[in-house]
Amino acid sequence: MQLRYNFRVYPEPAQRHALARAFGCARVVFNDGLRARQEAHAAGLSYVKDTDLQKQVVTAAKRTDERAWLGEVSSVVLVQSLRDLHTAYRNFFNSVTGKRKGPKIAPPRFKSKRDSRQSIRLTANGFSLRDNGRLYVAKVGDLRVRWSRRLPAVPTSVTVTMDAAGRYWASFVVDTDPDFFPETAAETGIDLGLSAFAVLSDGQKIASPRLLRRAERKLKRLQKDLSRKAKGSKNRAKARIKVARQHARVADRRRDWHHKESTKIVRENQAVYVEDLAVSGLARTRLARSVHDAGWSAFVGMLEYKAARHGRYFSRIGRFEPTSQVCSACGIKDGPKPLSVREWTCQECGTVHDRDINAARNILAAGRADRLNACGAKVRRAPVPAPRREAGSPQKGQTAQVGIPVL
Ligand SMILES: [Zn+2]
Repeated sequence: MQLRYNFRVYPEPAQRHALARAFGCARVVFNDGLRARQEAHAAGLSYVKDTDLQKQVVTAAKRTDERAWLGEVSSVVLVQSLRDLHTAYRNFFNSVTGKRKGPKIAPPRFKSKRDSRQSIRLTANGFSLRDNGRLYVAKVGDLRVRWSRRLPAVPTSVTVTMDAAGRYWASFVVDTDPDFFPETAAETGIDLGLSAFAVLSDGQKIASPRLLRRAERKLKRLQKDLSRKAKGSKNRAKARIKVARQHARVADRRRDWHHKESTKIVRENQAVYVEDLAVSGLARTRLARSVHDAGWSAFVGMLEYKAARHGRYFSRIGRFEPTSQVCSACGIKDGPKPLSVREWTCQECGTVHDRDINAARNILAAGRADRLNACGAKVRRAPVPAPRREAGSPQKGQTAQVGIPVL
């Protein structure tokens, strides 16, 4: 399977300049390609084939005065940028025709200079790893990398990114063999708790660490500061950078913590069942904000690919199960419970339930039942979806597991 490994990169001023040019060229080629397809579509012509599009917006464009500067960057960067466009189109078409499951995908959009994330992607002929630990990128140079962990094999591609906080990252794709954990009998159901981040069916409650909560509070404060600054002022620009930096810090901490917790759960359990929240459907409820803030879907994505990588079973349980209303001891449906009800007593069997733990137990039971049915019917397991973003890098000195599969 393929995994991603992310490392912080420190380009020198001249290299930053070259990277900025490469980001720009990749964006222009992407946008030119998108425009060409849109114009062909508007003119009633057939879909421009990938190879024809490359000839048009890369090979032929380089010979024009307007686009001659495309020759200043590695052609690998331009070709990969067009590949990204093809993938975006394919995902969109597959989503329209129903070939692709999950939320509907929008058609590709134009990239902007103002996008918070700029990137280029290079395949093996556009980069290499030097013996001195530097990362050579064609027409950019040898970049200094902070190697926070070893790569298990030679990477097949790398994406170099600049984020909103002005930091640079290299994200390597590496082919690795599955790494099966020793088998265990334990299984777990996980519920998105109201009071805790996640609640396990064995009664364990996982609260987000104080460090993360404090960073989140600081982010809120900085955002408030920003909103009070006059539009277009220097102070507003400064405040915006502060917000972007804190945002990045919170995202990093949260991701590292998600990695730590998800690895632990996958290591300790042979099967992991979670409630499928279909986060987009929750957008209208008051839970929405906390769901998004807590990064539940990113966490569940980690559980899923780690389960695949380490030989564990993973599945999502449909929302049709009213997990908080059913007694996990006797199975009776006890009726709706307002969000304020933290604890309740089953009217049938008298068991006293913690709302969240009871829900997690129901998820475990539903997951087991589904799995038995699936075994009987030989239902094919859904493939692990490839997250769009890479995992980032662990903090210095931390050994959090990093890596996201790409399919
Ligand atoms: Zn009961």
